[in-house]
Amino acid sequence: MQEQKDWNDTKGLNKLILKTSWLMVFIIIFISAAGVIIINQYNDKSFFQVMSSYVFLPTLCTVVILALTHLFYVLFNRWGDYILTVGVLAIMHVYIINFPFAPGIHYLLIISVLISALYFQKQKVYFTSILSLISFFSLYFFYEPFSSEIARSDIFAFIGIFIGFICISVGIIYRGDYLLKHLEESMRSQEELLVRNILMDRENKTDALTGLYNHKTFYEHLDRLIEKSSENQISFQLAIIDIDDFKAINDQYGHWIGDMVLKRVGEQFKLNATTDDFVFRYGGEEFAVILTAKNKTESFQVMDKIRADISRLTHSEMDHKSVTVSIGMCSYEVGLGKEAFFKAADNSLYKAKRNGKNQTIMVN
Ligand code: GH3
Ligand code: MG
Ligand code: MG
Repeated sequence: MQEQKDWNDTKGLNKLILKTSWLMVFIIIFISAAGVIIINQYNDKSFFQVMSSYVFLPTLCTVVILALTHLFYVLFNRWGDYILTVGVLAIMHVYIINFPFAPGIHYLLIISVLISALYFQKQKVYFTSILSLISFFSLYFFYEPFSSEIARSDIFAFIGIFIGFICISVGIIYRGDYLLKHLEESMRSQEELLVRNILMDRENKTDALTGLYNHKTFYEHLDRLIEKSSENQISFQLAIIDIDDFKAINDQYGHWIGDMVLKRVGEQFKLNATTDDFVFRYGGEEFAVILTAKNKTESFQVMDKIRADISRLTHSEMDHKSVTVSIGMCSYEVGLGKEAFFKAADNSLYKAKRNGKNQTIMVN
């Protein structure tokens, strides 16, 4: 059974968020340093004073928070998603607190909501949204540098846009869920189709009573082997088997028992042929075996041993009597052709029957 894919596995995503966050530290250093250098021309504080309060201090805070987040993530992996979400939110606060005068800096809170949406779980979006809103209002009411920069109208605009982003995030999650379900469904039906095809293919190739390859498959195999033998000299033999006096068995014990015996005889060929051989139910109470990777004598020995074993096998349904089989064999010679090959084996079978049955005859 194929292992089910866990779509909720967020380990890969968490690693990506952590890696990106560390990368962002360097990008932010660069941006804030560039900002300081450009804006400092209009500022009367010393360059190093500005650098330390706007670049070094926020960077230090970010690195400490990120390192702690990373540490807690490793220690409490089970809560990894939430630890990262809170960590990212905390880093956003470093910049809101350090740059309260930067217009629209509080919109960084929306970024943390969007990051939580990457998990494709509504509860994480709600969790981050509530946390972000609480911190927005805490900043507004308790952090004067921030509230003095924000106009009342800005609060409503922020809340409106914030809610808009929550709705979009949840909408994307719903849409993702829908697509995922369809993907899973189509994968499942594809799997079912594959299994059904395999089963149908097997049904087409085998005989229902004995489970052996059927008449049609026999000719397919034979054609392929004859074709191959003309390219490279390969040795293979054909054995045609017919149960002796089977009509009498049916007449005496009935077709039901006849079927059971037929099946058991087929099993004997299947069980005792070598792995290089193919066993078929040719039709009625006749079987065929194609033997490969052996010479004529070896193949004869394999088949004649099975014949002898069958003659010793007793059947409880037939008052512990046994049945016998006659076997006609022929070894393929290049250029012989399918019909002549089959006819030669069939003639040998006919000879075996005429000679008194329960014997194997290989044509010279
Ligand atoms: P021989 O030794 O000459 O082969 O004698 P035989 O009676 O086996 O030969 P014949 O061809 O006259 O009869 C074959 C019988 O096999 C006829 C038929 O009723 C029976 N038979 C063929 N297919 C099946 C089957 O699927 N199930 C059962 N129970 N009998 C079958
Ligand atoms: Mg027959
Ligand atoms: Mg027969």
